[in-house]
Amino acid sequence: MAFGEIAGNPVGTNYPDRNALREAGVHWLNQAGIGWRADEDSAESIVLNEGYEDDRDLGDEILYTGHGGRDPNSGRQIADQQFTAGNKALAANKTLAVPVRVIRGYRLKSPFAPPTGYRYDGLYYVDDVWHDTGQAGYLIWRFRLLRADDAALPVPAPTGAIPDLPTARSAETVQRIVRSTVTALKVKQLYNYRCQVCGLVLVTPAGLYAEAAHIRPLGRPHDGPDVESNILCLCPNHHVLFDSGAIGVAANLTLLGGTGRLHVDDNHGLDAMQLAYHREHYWRD
Ligand SMILES: [Zn+2]
Repeated sequence: MAFGEIAGNPVGTNYPDRNALREAGVHWLNQAGIGWRADEDSAESIVLNEGYEDDRDLGDEILYTGHGGRDPNSGRQIADQQFTAGNKALAANKTLAVPVRVIRGYRLKSPFAPPTGYRYDGLYYVDDVWHDTGQAGYLIWRFRLLRADDAALPVPAPTGAIPDLPTARSAETVQRIVRSTVTALKVKQLYNYRCQVCGLVLVTPAGLYAEAAHIRPLGRPHDGPDVESNILCLCPNHHVLFDSGAIGVAANLTLLGGTGRLHVDDNHGLDAMQLAYHREHYWRD
């Protein structure tokens, strides 16, 4: 078991090669980018080095492509990626909310890559997992990683980055969260906090409880709208099943991966396009 920070290896530690990473216990596999073990339920670490054409590194936020389906000689994508091994383990980091260690390598095409060797850059949460069609036309698994701590990255932000305006930005962020909460509240109240899938209402001492589930996620690269037509009122169980792609909703509102149908109020204005997006990128047959 080697989750989280490894003693003696603070953020910013440099390693000359993969062997040194392995000996330090920071990333135990010499080849694979995703460090996972068959007897554990999520991944421990990832090395960003080779990179896929669809990857993006924004420092605190990383769009990462899973492994598999590539020709070992040419490196070209020649088959679909499977939801097995490291890809499956990394998806579990999202559902279990376990962060992974992120290591950047010198071959990564990113302003945050170290000039030589490898560098441990801290813990990241897996915020989103979905599937897409890559540039070569095959299915790829994609992951959005968000930095867990807000200490500065060991490298400065690339030139041309937006200057930091802490006061203005935090006020704006708070306003956005408040607006988002109000939108979510409207949907929950429309359903009286009743899950649209199973009809359950949770009664807590502090009042009724339900969760607002965005159908098309707000984060990059989905950029779903934070509006009532893109939000479902779900119990926590069905929220997890929906976000992980275990269940989806057909065009006629029949539940996919479950039984029954989604209950939709006439005043909801639910957007069928967003349900289609969820079916295409999250639901797994
Ligand atoms: Zn439910």
